[in-house]
Amino acid sequence: MMLLTCPHCGPRDVTEFTYGGDANARQPADGASLEEWNAYVFLRDNPRGPHDELWQHTAGCRRWIRVQRNTLTHAVLGSAPASGGRA
Ligand SMILES: [Zn+2]
Repeated sequence: MMLLTCPHCGPRDVTEFTYGGDANARQPADGASLEEWNAYVFLRDNPRGPHDELWQHTAGCRRWIRVQRNTLTHAVLGSAPASGGRA
């Protein structure tokens, strides 16, 4: 069982959350090329080790949180509200 700590609700089973992707991906600026949009939507790194991720507590408060998780060990290294703060 994997636990994620929602900063608003406390530790919960990961099944209460929905993965939202890389927390560091940035949407291209207005007027960006098709190639930039293609890279933003479809291309992702596959990091091995600590990774910042967005998760939504869909079966709880429904808020978005930022989680730092080691993709190799699945250890959760920290969590914070998605707006502001650090994982
Ligand atoms: Zn919550």
